[in-house]
Amino acid sequence: MSKNKSSESVKVVVRCRPLNQKDESNGPAGGIVQMDLRLGQVILRNPRAPASEPQKTFTFDAVYDANSKQRDLYDESVRPLIDSVLAGFNGTIFAYGQTGTGKTYTMQGAWLDPERRGVIPNAFDHIFTHISRSQSDKQYLVRASYLEIYLEDIRDLLDPNHGSAKALELRESPESGVYVRDLTSCVCKSIKEIEEVMNVGNQARAVGATDMNEHSSRSHALFLITVECSQPGPDGRKHIRVGRLNLVDLAGSERQAKTGVQGERLKEAAKINLSLSALGNVISALADGRSSHVPYRDSKLTRLLQDSLGGNAKTVMVATLGPASQHYDETLTTLRYANRAKNIQNQPRVNEDPKDALLREFQMEIARLRAQLHHRKWRSKQKKEQVDGEGWERDGDEETEGEEDEGAEKEAEDYVKLEEQRLEREKQDIREDQFLLAEEKQRLLGEKERMMGDLRKEQEATEQLTAKYKAMESKLLVGGKNIIDHTNEQQKMLEMKRQEIAEQTRREREIQQQMLVRDEETVELRETFTSLQQEVEAKTKKLKKLYAKLQCIKAEIQDVNDEHVRSRQELEQTQNELTRELKFKYLIIENFIPPEEKNKIMNRLTFDPEEDQWKFQPLVPAESKSSQMKKRPASAVGYKRPISQYARVAIAMGPHSRYRAENIMFLELDMTPPNTASLDRSAESEPNQSHSVDNSPTKDRGVRKSRSWCQTPKSITSSSSNVSLAACHTATPMTAQ
Ligand code: ADP
Ligand code: MG
Repeated sequence: MSKNKSSESVKVVVRCRPLNQKDESNGPAGGIVQMDLRLGQVILRNPRAPASEPQKTFTFDAVYDANSKQRDLYDESVRPLIDSVLAGFNGTIFAYGQTGTGKTYTMQGAWLDPERRGVIPNAFDHIFTHISRSQSDKQYLVRASYLEIYLEDIRDLLDPNHGSAKALELRESPESGVYVRDLTSCVCKSIKEIEEVMNVGNQARAVGATDMNEHSSRSHALFLITVECSQPGPDGRKHIRVGRLNLVDLAGSERQAKTGVQGERLKEAAKINLSLSALGNVISALADGRSSHVPYRDSKLTRLLQDSLGGNAKTVMVATLGPASQHYDETLTTLRYANRAKNIQNQPRVNEDPKDALLREFQMEIARLRAQLHHRKWRSKQKKEQVDGEGWERDGDEETEGEEDEGAEKEAEDYVKLEEQRLEREKQDIREDQFLLAEEKQRLLGEKERMMGDLRKEQEATEQLTAKYKAMESKLLVGGKNIIDHTNEQQKMLEMKRQEIAEQTRREREIQQQMLVRDEETVELRETFTSLQQEVEAKTKKLKKLYAKLQCIKAEIQDVNDEHVRSRQELEQTQNELTRELKFKYLIIENFIPPEEKNKIMNRLTFDPEEDQWKFQPLVPAESKSSQMKKRPASAVGYKRPISQYARVAIAMGPHSRYRAENIMFLELDMTPPNTASLDRSAESEPNQSHSVDNSPTKDRGVRKSRSWCQTPKSITSSSSNVSLAACHTATPMTAQ
C-alpha cells in the first residue's frame, strides 16, 4: 500500500488579520505584529517590555499579513496539499488561534465574494475542476461529511436529528485508521451539491447553539471530503486511490477565564481546554521526538487528528493572530504552538486499493445492474424473435456500451408494444368469434388480460432497474465528462501562471531562509583580518550579536517558565474544583446508596478506553450466553442443588431437620393476589380452619410455609416444622401444590 516512505514536516503558516475598530477602541493604537513576507518571519513586540528588550522573531513556511488575499494563501500553501489529496494522500488543514483572529474567515470566508472565499470553497472549486479536466478513463467518487466536537462529544452535523441525536463513537481500524462510526456521508456530484452539504451543516451548527459565536468558538468543526479515483493501471486492472481531506476549524485557543465559572460552563471550559491542551501535548510530544508515548487518546480531537499529526497525512497548520497589543500573551502562545508544530514529521503515503473503497462497491453494483438489464434485454429479444419469427439480426458485441444500452431499451419497448398489440388483436378475435361459448370467451379473455398484466409488470420492473442503474452511474464522476468546464483557454492559462508564480514565491522563500541560516554559519570562515584593530572590532560586533541572542534565549526561558507556572496553577485549580465535585458525589453515594447496591453496581462497571467512558457490563454477556450457563452436576438432577449420598439416605430414612436445607419457602407467584376484602371474608367464613392451623404446629401452615427441596408434599404435612412464617390466610394451601 505504501508508495512513498519519505517523511515531511507539518507545514506551518501564520496569518495576521487587520486591526479592527474593537482593537483600536480597547487598547493603545498600533499593532504588535510585524511580518517579513520574503523571509517568512513574524516579529513580535512586547508592549509591556522596555524598548531595549529585543523583539521575538519566529520563522515559518509562509506568513500572511493584514493585506494578504485569500487567494494568495490558497495558491501558495493549500493548493499543493489538495493536489496531493487528489493523488490519493490524506491531507489536513487546520486553523488554530484565539477567537476572533480569523480562523473561520480563513477556512470559510465570505462565500459570495470571489475575492474573500476561504480555503473550503476554494478547495471545492479545485477538486471539481480537477475532475472535469482529468482524462476520461478516470472515475471519481466524492463524498463529504461534517461533524463538530462539542464538550468532547462528536455530533453529526448532517444528521437531520442533530440536536437530539446521540453522540457518535470513535473507532479504529487498521485499514482506515481512526474513524467516526455511523457518520453521515453524502455523495456529491458537483460544487453546488457539496456547498449544499456545507450549508446544511452550518445551519445545524447554528441551530444547536443559543449564541452562534459563543458556540462556534467553543466547538471544533471538521469537514471531511473523501475523493476516490479509479484508473486503469499498466496491468489492465482498475486501481483505486483514496484521498481524505480534513478541513478543521478549531475552537478559540484563548484561556477560558476561570473565575466565576461554574457548573455546565466550568465543564465546558474544562473540556475545551482539555482538547486544546491535549493537542498541545501531542504537538509537544511529537516535536520533541524523544518521547515514546504520544497522548492521542487524551481527547477526541487528537484521536481524529492522529493521522494528521505524526501519521500518514500531509498537514498544513494555519495559525491566526490578531495584531492588538492587549492580546500579546495569546499571540505569543499561538506563535510558540505554531513554532513547535513545525518540527512534527509525518510519513505521507498514497492509499492505494484500500479494502473499504466505496467506489469499488459502486462499480460492482453498477456491473451487476448492467448484467441484469442485459439479461432482460436478451430475454425480450428472444421473445420478440418468437413473436415475429425474425432472426437474430444484429450482433450485440459490436455495439458500444452506450449504444447497447439504448438499443436494449428500444428493443424492450418495441417488444412490449408489439406484444400489447398482439394481445389486443387476439382479444378482439375472441370477442368476435361467434362459435365460442360465452363462458369459454370469458376465460380466454381473462387469460389474455392476465398476460397483459404480466407484461406491464415486467416492463415496470425493467424501468425500475434502468432508473436504479442510471442513478448509481450518475454518482460516479467521469474525468472530462460530467462537469462542463466553463472557463475558457485564456482563463486556464491565467490560472496556471498564477500557480507558477505561487510556486516560485514559495521556493524563493525557502532559498532565502536557507541562505540566512548558512550565512550565520559561514560568515566567520570567510573573514580575514588585516589588522588587530579590525579583528577586535569584528569580534566585538559578533560578541554583541551573540549577547543579544543570549538575552533573547534567556527571556524565552523566563517566558516559558512563567507559562508553565501559569498553566500549572490553572491545572491545580481545575483539580481542586474536580476534587470538590468528587467529594460531593461521594457524600451522596456513601449516605444515600445502600452498600450492597453500590457493590453490585461497582462490580458491573468496566472502563471502555475506546470511548473514554464507564460502562455497565450486561448481566449475562450476550454472545456467550450458552457457554456461560453451567451444566447441572449429576448429583443435582432432580433436586434444586447438589446433594450428597449421605443426605439422600438421611432424607429417605426420615425427615431429619438437618437435611431440610434452606429452601423452605415457596417462591411461586400466588395466583390469587391478596386482596384485603376477600382475605377478611375468607377469615370470617372459615374461622375454624384457621384456628385449627394456628393451634397445631405440626400441621402445614399455608402457602408461605416451608416445603423442603427434597420432600414430597406428603412429608411436609407430616413434618414437625416449627418455622412460623406469616400467618396463614389461605384455607387450603396444599391443594395448590
Ligand atoms: P475566529 O473564527 O477565529 O473566531 P473570525 O474568522 O470569525 O474569527 O474573524 C473575526 C472577524 O475578523 C470577522 O469579522 C472577520 O471577517 C474578520 N477577519 C478575520 N480575518 C480577516 C482578514 N484576514 N481580513 C479581513 N477580515 C478578517
Ligand atoms: Mg470561528
